[in-house]
Amino acid sequence: MSSAVSKLLTLTLMLALALFSSFSYVHASATSPRIYITPPPSNALPLKVYVYPTALDADHGEEFTCQYQKEFASMFYDVLRSFRKVVFRFVDEHPEFHRLLEIWFVNVSDHSEADITFRVIRQEGVIAYTNFTGAWTPYQSQIYVACNLFDRGSAEWVWGVIFHELGHALGLGHAFQDRTGDGKFELMRGAAENEKTYPSTLDLYAIHEIFFNHSFREVFEIIALPDGLEYKMVIPYDAELRQLRRENEELRHRVKSVEAEMDKLWDHLRNASDVITYLNDENRRLRQENEDLRVMSAALEEQAADLWGQLQTADIIISRLQEENEMLRANLSYCVSLGLELGEKCNQTIRRLVNEYNSLNANYSVCLDYLAMYQRNANWFKMWTWIMAATALIFALITYLVMKRHIRKLEEELDQLEGGSS
Ligand SMILES: [Zn+2]
Repeated sequence: MSSAVSKLLTLTLMLALALFSSFSYVHASATSPRIYITPPPSNALPLKVYVYPTALDADHGEEFTCQYQKEFASMFYDVLRSFRKVVFRFVDEHPEFHRLLEIWFVNVSDHSEADITFRVIRQEGVIAYTNFTGAWTPYQSQIYVACNLFDRGSAEWVWGVIFHELGHALGLGHAFQDRTGDGKFELMRGAAENEKTYPSTLDLYAIHEIFFNHSFREVFEIIALPDGLEYKMVIPYDAELRQLRRENEELRHRVKSVEAEMDKLWDHLRNASDVITYLNDENRRLRQENEDLRVMSAALEEQAADLWGQLQTADIIISRLQEENEMLRANLSYCVSLGLELGEKCNQTIRRLVNEYNSLNANYSVCLDYLAMYQRNANWFKMWTWIMAATALIFALITYLVMKRHIRKLEEELDQLEGGSS
């Protein structure tokens, strides 16, 4: 123990560039939120504070004037007051940690008497850090912040960095998790850019342990948040009130703009309603068209199938016709050759027939001549016959008359004979 005490340990906790790096967002997991702790600089309360009025160029070991000296000093005091406010709020909600109220700060005029010192510096690659000049209580916590801090981020962020260093000065190490249970920055991991970062319930619980409860066996130890304590950022009432007021104002503005937006939306909605009606109609129409097309399509398919059948039949017919055609073509060529032959024969026959006709015609003329001659002869013969017949008839008639007279004479002679005898 004594060897550990004599062993002068200079621990440097640096809030390094990690503050700028993006934290991986980790909610408190099943394991409780945890943080490193180290013994407090002093158990004598209030804690004595000294703010250096001049800046130090650490690389050259000489003082210089930082343009932000005043801002840094007033910001550091503001952080000290805010620590008290945060404690009030925390103790108000968790009275069991009321001893935290005993931690307050007084100024001292000699830096060697101080438990916590605050100094602006200029040092290559440094943002801010806190030196512990001893491993075990009592020791002096020395906070250093780079003069160019204001050039590196917002005033809220610088404020958070200083509060982070105060946490170190009170004996806090770094927390294990980047965010509190309510999604806020864990002060002992980093500071937010756009708003002030306050200590978490874990940080305040740890400070209570450091000052009033925990018995350290090591210079650095780890403690976890008890189960009954919600892990969240502890925002002072006045800050929260200010924040709420600002949010309220913002909400009021937003409500107004939302109202205006609503009006616009109603207009849009009316338009949209029209559009929906139109689309519905269009939809219905298209659906109907679709149905019609479906029916038409089915009919066409049927027709197509029908045509296909007909086509196949036609194919068959065509092939048959083609066959016939082939055959006919063959026949035709045969006929043509045959036809030539027949024609020739026909010609010859006709020629022969003509000849025969001519000769017959000639014969016929001769016949006609003969006939005419015969007719002439026949007429003459007929006339002659008639004359002969008439002559014969006249002769017969005369003969008959003569005979008749002769008979009558004979009959009269006979009668005279008969009468004479009597
Ligand atoms: Zn740190």
